[in-house]
Amino acid sequence: METTSLLRDVCEGYRLKEQEAVRLLKTKGREVFEILAAADRLREERAGPSVTYVTNQNIHITNICKNLCGFCGFGRRAGDEGAYCDDHETIRKKTALARERNVTEICLLSGVHPDFSAETYIELLAVVRDEAPEVHIHAFSPDEVSYAASMSGLSTREVLSGMRRAGLNSLQGTAAEILVDEVRRIICPQKLDSASWETIIREAHQMGIPTTATILYGTCEQIEDRVRHLAVLRQIQDDTGGFTELVPLSFVYQNTPLYRCGQTGSGATGREDLLLIAISRLFLDNFTNIQVSWGKLGIKLSQLALLSGGNDLAGTMFSDDVTGDAGAAEGGFLDPAIMERIAGDIGRSLVERRTDYTLV
Ligand code: SF4
Repeated sequence: METTSLLRDVCEGYRLKEQEAVRLLKTKGREVFEILAAADRLREERAGPSVTYVTNQNIHITNICKNLCGFCGFGRRAGDEGAYCDDHETIRKKTALARERNVTEICLLSGVHPDFSAETYIELLAVVRDEAPEVHIHAFSPDEVSYAASMSGLSTREVLSGMRRAGLNSLQGTAAEILVDEVRRIICPQKLDSASWETIIREAHQMGIPTTATILYGTCEQIEDRVRHLAVLRQIQDDTGGFTELVPLSFVYQNTPLYRCGQTGSGATGREDLLLIAISRLFLDNFTNIQVSWGKLGIKLSQLALLSGGNDLAGTMFSDDVTGDAGAAEGGFLDPAIMERIAGDIGRSLVERRTDYTLV
């Protein structure tokens, strides 16, 4: 089917097949703009005219990590230069600062510390919950849940349940990277496999804990792997409805082991970034929200991504060592005044949302 009629069918409700999405993702030349425009139309239909964002703050706990993934510039071994692990008092101070900034969401970001058990995570959550009783806590990945369970001799459901009792509101859909095990064996061999990631995400959804969905692209995966990943997410969402949004994460390559040893190139191109956002919008007919990660894409490309199917500009963050350590130029804090300019310049209004996408 030619691209124009395929896009028309998708806009009228046709569900894209994997091989069709692969073909669209491989598009070059001016047809690219046709795809972006179709995704923008669907964005308007599904998510409305506004650009949303959340006032949130990242709190980094430790960069000591058992996984040392090849695509990551953040993780360190204990004893390495720059390695740290914050104590409860420091986490409490960081949380107090977030509260003073009137954030509605706190994201706890962490390496998978080899000594952390379920109790460690639960105690951390309790500290944050105690200091910020009203704030939504968005924290931890299925890999952390899996490791905590193995350290404490518990099931992953028991860990999730303990985390929720201690204050967890939503789980991060990170550690997904690309849900194709041949790719994972190269980029994150120490992480849980695709099936285990899916099991824990489904458990969280069944327990009423929402999660984000992420995709890390631009390392060494094939276009077919990107689409396979999206197909796994679409199936989970069909079954559970528990994903709040897709967060596409473009590989930031500069300071990563994979790039340094020549196993990856220099990440996705601008065409690939925009097409990934657009095809996600076209393929994931059961997702309302497609996020644009300004920290990964930069401000100017993020604005174009909002014209290519994206509807959300993520959060204020205040700090993002994970992206910064990997070598991104952007990072840290994005002032809503700048977001407003980006949105207004493409004829849209900026609206503050909560983590669950209800408006503030
Ligand atoms: S991506 Fe996460 S799990 Fe992997 S090395 Fe970095 S901090 Fe550790």
